[in-house]
Amino acid sequence: MVLQTSDLLKNELPVEQETLVLSDDVVTGLVLVDIVNGFCTVGAGNLAPKETDKQISGMVEESVKLAKVFCENKWPVLAFLDSHHPDKPEHPYPPHCLIGTEESELVPALQRLEKETNVTIRRKDCINGFLGSIEKDGSNVFVDWVGTNKIKVILVVGICTDICVLDFVATALSARNRGFLAPLEDVVVYSRGCATYDIPSHVAKSNNEVVAHPQELMHHIGLYMAKGRGAKIAWEVLVGPHEKP
Ligand SMILES: [Zn+2]
Repeated sequence: MVLQTSDLLKNELPVEQETLVLSDDVVTGLVLVDIVNGFCTVGAGNLAPKETDKQISGMVEESVKLAKVFCENKWPVLAFLDSHHPDKPEHPYPPHCLIGTEESELVPALQRLEKETNVTIRRKDCINGFLGSIEKDGSNVFVDWVGTNKIKVILVVGICTDICVLDFVATALSARNRGFLAPLEDVVVYSRGCATYDIPSHVAKSNNEVVAHPQELMHHIGLYMAKGRGAKIAWEVLVGPHEKP
């Protein structure tokens, strides 16, 4: 019998997941990682999907739903936008998300966030949103956002589960453990609100230019690594009873 990837993963690298219930009682901040055209919109650039991708479109859909709930309730949202200067390439990736192009803008369904008062937009020119939040004076936009809003839980969605999401989550957890992020208690990764790209191994075998990156496997490994660093993984996010509409 040939084991399916999903069975193998479930058996060998199980990732226990939970339900997160949002409410006014626990201040929760939503972090959107790089839900920009250059990574999510078909044909939008070197690192964009070449055809419709179920995992990526599902991630965008879930993120849009959550962003709507957070905006309706005026709960804090921080959106990272991968944005590069054309003269500063990001090794090992090909040019992507150059400043001033559509690639580095939020996907159309999220563009309204730029006008919302509860949303902080942070352009970053590196993989890790925590490092990308450092200002020239040494302050950190993400750390300040957590402190100013007295955030106890951050809920992380976006792309890629095993790259930008994982690096940010792992760094945030280290910073929390060192006491830099009070009053933050939990970092929650919403599994259906995350996605990664797909380069199947058979494609990589016939093309020396690319490295294999099977989507289902790498998404799962991203979640597994995040959990290993101390993140909680949620497979569903519900909105609990609260006073505001
Ligand atoms: Zn980048």
